[in-house]
Amino acid sequence: MKPETLAVHAGNHPDEKTGAVIAPLITSTTFLRNEEGGYTSGYQYGRSSNPNRTSLENVLAALENGADACAFSSGVAAGMTLFQALEPGSHILAPDDMYHGLRNQLLQVFAGVLSVSFVNMGDVDAVEKAITPQTRMIWIETPSNPLLKITDIKALSAIAKKHHCLLACDSTFASPIFQKPLDLGADIVLHSSTKYLGGHSDIIGGALITGDKSSFWQKVKNFQGLGGAVPSPFDCYLLIRSIKTLPWRMRAHDENARKVAAFLDAHPLVETVFYPGLPTHPGYNIAREQMTGFGGMLSFLVKSGEGAAKALVNKTKFFTQATSLGGVESLIEHRYSVEGPESKTPKNLVRVSVGLENAEDLMEDLRQALEG
Ligand SMILES: *Cc1c(COP(=O)(O)O)cnc(C)c1O
Repeated sequence: MKPETLAVHAGNHPDEKTGAVIAPLITSTTFLRNEEGGYTSGYQYGRSSNPNRTSLENVLAALENGADACAFSSGVAAGMTLFQALEPGSHILAPDDMYHGLRNQLLQVFAGVLSVSFVNMGDVDAVEKAITPQTRMIWIETPSNPLLKITDIKALSAIAKKHHCLLACDSTFASPIFQKPLDLGADIVLHSSTKYLGGHSDIIGGALITGDKSSFWQKVKNFQGLGGAVPSPFDCYLLIRSIKTLPWRMRAHDENARKVAAFLDAHPLVETVFYPGLPTHPGYNIAREQMTGFGGMLSFLVKSGEGAAKALVNKTKFFTQATSLGGVESLIEHRYSVEGPESKTPKNLVRVSVGLENAEDLMEDLRQALEG
């Protein structure tokens, strides 16, 4: 099956009992025991597993060409479970522009338990030099937030294998439609399903997908239940529903973002546009090789500086000023003020999640906000 078919069918099977074409929502927290005390259905207790969650994990694993998946109540809970499964004392290499929530998690929640070095993942030699005997995981995020930097997954997979480290890839910006990190040599993929998988800005969720059911993965799966940061059955049900349109939504996000990126790139009041689909972007060639689309995220620097960038995000009509991404509605934000004073993000940077409105309307909106 191809992605469009998997998206529709891998997470849903008609209900045999009722004939319902859409699998029902099962909210029960507990499941019947039989005479021997066993569990005939395979389900026991809602934190350990739930039929809607199993269906969600099935479609996620299928879309990433993975062997298994674990769904969580948020993207950062997925990351946390992965870090918890590492032995205390392990060292992690992470990108110098890592998603700030996970960066803060490593520095605050895992302080004294795990050590981390932040490196430029675009510099393969620097990555290899940063590996120590304690390094157990290389964490990459591509495209990255908010500069849309591209990391060469195949090259980093070779380094990870050579040094017996796991390669984990936060592939949230690409979605499983435009990038399949497991096929390129990554061991584990993370998604914040709050973003494109959910697609409608109304679910917080996360997921991990593995290439093989290693003993490390068994530990992750065990910790999913023991940690308990699991999504509700209704959130799983909604995500399965959203994923059915994911391939077509991604195509439209990509089509619109290419137009918006080209428009901004040509505008005299814009200094630089960061979009991997622009041939001038430093990651363009790698993106073309490892992705089948460039996605709907971009950022740009406003020529007149921070004040102008902050004013711009207040002037748009169709781009709503809010953080997050991946929904059908376009969002815009002054990124530095979201990330806080530790942030390395340029102060005149505006980040945009290009939605599914008409591209002409979106470009006109940005034009009037830039020039107005
Ligand atoms: C949003 C996001 C996360 C965190 O996900 P939550 O669902 O907000 O916990 C992680 N990585 C990236 C790239 C994100 O955009």
